[in-house]
Amino acid sequence: MKTPIPVITIDELIVRYDALLFDAYGVLVHRDGPLPGACRLLERLQRLNKPFFLVTNTSARLPERAARRYQGFGLPVEAGQIITSGSLLKPYFETANLRGRRCAILGPEDTFRYVEQAGAKAVPPTEDFDMLVIGDQVGFPFLESVDAVLSRLIEKFDRGDSVPLILPNPDLIYPKASGFGMTSGAVALMIEAVLRQRYPGRPGIGFVPLGKPETAIFAEAARRAGTRHLVMIGDQLDTDIRGAGRFGIDSALISGGVAELDFLGHAPEWLPTYRLAGLEPVRT
Ligand SMILES: [Mg+2]
Repeated sequence: MKTPIPVITIDELIVRYDALLFDAYGVLVHRDGPLPGACRLLERLQRLNKPFFLVTNTSARLPERAARRYQGFGLPVEAGQIITSGSLLKPYFETANLRGRRCAILGPEDTFRYVEQAGAKAVPPTEDFDMLVIGDQVGFPFLESVDAVLSRLIEKFDRGDSVPLILPNPDLIYPKASGFGMTSGAVALMIEAVLRQRYPGRPGIGFVPLGKPETAIFAEAARRAGTRHLVMIGDQLDTDIRGAGRFGIDSALISGGVAELDFLGHAPEWLPTYRLAGLEPVRT
């Protein structure tokens, strides 16, 4: 039996919560510009002094560059309000004792910066490495780089080495003007499938996801907001909504995104607290 999910307006969310968390893609922006109502909403939040943060699985752009890009779209967002999954590499490398190691990267220039800022040595996929980060699906010659990484991984696994595999952005797809695009999570699945076929049952051949639906990114948002009385506004059930549920905060699923509510029927952590029709204020 399906649980009915109450519909809420953006105005009610503003009143009800201390701070608002937004997913970026599919909620505030698409690939080439802002989504309807996004600029006006953020301007309003700014006027109201209502704290808000973007919680985004990207590790393809540093927060400063992302902020400039969003500002170019007309969104009033500062770098300090953007929490990226790339910024989780630093605490992860510390905890997993990976600082100073050679890290191969599938991703653009900014993924290299994230890895260096996290204290590892960023190397291209054609060089020898101790660990692998998939930062994005673009910004590198795709097939050559994936082949180089696979070859090196097989060489290492054949020798019995262990190689940490790290995935800041576990998203599989994202919406784009012409339909959908494949995201870095899908690239990781491809590599995992090859490794699982070659090394059946071997532990340590799965990628460690860092971004949503893992909770570390929400913990960082709560730290910056100074409150846990937060609502996460997202368009994807399995990352935005599920991650918020795991962290123990409320969530609102915006309609028209990747996930529609017909997909429901999973565990309670997949259920949004609310449905949200859009970012525009409701006129009565
Ligand atoms: Mg999204």
